[in-house]
Amino acid sequence: TKVAHKNVAAHEWDREEARNRRQHLISMNAFERHKKFVSDYILYYGGKIEDFRRSMSKDKTDLDVVRENHRFLWREEDEEDMTWEKELAKKYYDKLFKEYCIADLSRYKENKFGFRWRVENEVISGKGQFHCGNKRCENKEGLKSWEVNFAYVEQGEKRNALVKLRLCPECSFKLNYHHKRKEVTVKKRQQSKENLDKSVSKKSRKQKRKDKRKHKKRRKGKHVFNANQDPKHFQDVELLEKHFIVCLC
Ligand SMILES: [Zn+2]
Repeated sequence: TKVAHKNVAAHEWDREEARNRRQHLISMNAFERHKKFVSDYILYYGGKIEDFRRSMSKDKTDLDVVRENHRFLWREEDEEDMTWEKELAKKYYDKLFKEYCIADLSRYKENKFGFRWRVENEVISGKGQFHCGNKRCENKEGLKSWEVNFAYVEQGEKRNALVKLRLCPECSFKLNYHHKRKEVTVKKRQQSKENLDKSVSKKSRKQKRKDKRKHKKRRKGKHVFNANQDPKHFQDVELLEKHFIVCLC
């Protein structure tokens, strides 16, 4: 009898082995196969399984992006060179209600205050308008309106804004601890309106028309929401509590 040549036998043996391996791989699901390849790789080249793990240290959520790019007030120049991150922050900003502020008065003795705009839920519940605007106070009695020149640092830049807030007597005391702020009373508002009416009546028709146009333009650009609006109107304003920003100042 003739025995097959050694080479032929080895070749046949290899083919058999390859067939077995293929069968083995096919029988596994994709994840098991992946794990096998990884462990084969480590067996062959050395190393640790930890080296394969993706680093999550630089991962960012939408909230992180909004926080980083948030602005208390967006100016026209802030909207130059928009990136997707800035777009996201601007989109969030557009959904805030910029009439009354919510204040953090916890550091009033240092003459430091935090302000932020209200979110939809607060407008509906009346927080900051019919309830005290201090974030930690729910008082409804004796609320007063205050106008505060809010100076803050944002993106390494000093800015300031005139903000309005409603506070109960105790919280008003905290706000005025160092400086007496300007109180906004209904009477004053009416008076200033009267003055405005008088001055308007003196203006020419042409000027009036111009003013009207200006007014329209401003309203369009500023996204000022009327807090007295029916909550129904806010339905398409999708605002999640997780996007709630603690004042950055
Ligand atoms: Zn209060």
